[in-house]
Amino acid sequence: DLDYAEKLARMLGANLEAQTVHAVDHVDLRIMPGEVVGLVGESGCGKSTLGRIMAGIMPQSDGEILWQGQDTRTLSPAAGRAARLGAQMIFQDPMSSLNPRKQVIDIIGEAPVAHGMITRREKDSYVAAMMQRVGLDPSFRSRYPHQFSGGQRQRIGIARALAVKPQFIVCDESVAALDVSIQAQVINLFLELKRDLGLTYLFISHDLGVVKHVSDRVAIMYLGRIVESAPADAFFAQPNHPYTVALLNEVPSIAHRRRVFSPVKGEIPSPLHPPSGCHFHPRCPHAFDRCSREAPKLKQIASGHISACHLNDNQAAHPKPTIAAL
Ligand code: SF4
Ligand code: MG
Repeated sequence: DLDYAEKLARMLGANLEAQTVHAVDHVDLRIMPGEVVGLVGESGCGKSTLGRIMAGIMPQSDGEILWQGQDTRTLSPAAGRAARLGAQMIFQDPMSSLNPRKQVIDIIGEAPVAHGMITRREKDSYVAAMMQRVGLDPSFRSRYPHQFSGGQRQRIGIARALAVKPQFIVCDESVAALDVSIQAQVINLFLELKRDLGLTYLFISHDLGVVKHVSDRVAIMYLGRIVESAPADAFFAQPNHPYTVALLNEVPSIAHRRRVFSPVKGEIPSPLHPPSGCHFHPRCPHAFDRCSREAPKLKQIASGHISACHLNDNQAAHPKPTIAAL
């Protein structure tokens, strides 16, 4: 319901503000050009909200979003427009994000015409080139979304995003709805586009197997907070946060990873009334008295590796994580 959504957005806004304090300390969701950052968490943890805010399609209620080092609220109208075009979003379900009454040529070509990137006369050849770029047959450009398969529709969504020449793309569970074989093709397309066009991605997913395959860096979110972020190698080899360790141990082998995403034991608490102190304490196997009283801050534990857990204040007490091979 709306009331809930609004409260949730406000709650997440408040937490994002806290995160931004860390961003200013150069430690958290700073995404560098050309980087793929995987953002992982259970459903309802706020990762989609964070993605929407970062893609500029949802305003933050507070805190700073920096685009190329500049606060997005203080950009000139022209720079604001460039930032909005520069950040695009690709959704999970291409069917509901594509207008069913529009032909593909308009779905892909309308925005670049509207923004004066191409003329109306150039639209046809421009769209054809975009379709080719994402592996679609350009001769299908007068068709409608329902005339394409799920994987092709996702390619239409990608072409629509590419058409306005973005630098940064937020992929929100963009392959989650696709069959495994199609998933692999679309992921490869993402990586190819990144290589050829120098794109930067925030890759939101609950699937650690996919995230491991695409990411340069991984960030873990729990109830509206980033709890750990690290270069992908370090993240998978030396995870630090007990929540991360639990997530990694829950991942079924690659062969079976699509079967279930079984969340960490215990209910996810309501984001509206998160537990006191460390939000994870009711589910954490290592919780101690301080955890329910005091929220741990994100601290650097190795180069580029940050984690928010009180155990890091006492390295000797930190349990060595045991991770099943992913
Ligand atoms: Fe667990 Fe405490 Fe660390 Fe939170 S701060 S993850 S409850 S040990
Ligand atoms: Mg989501």
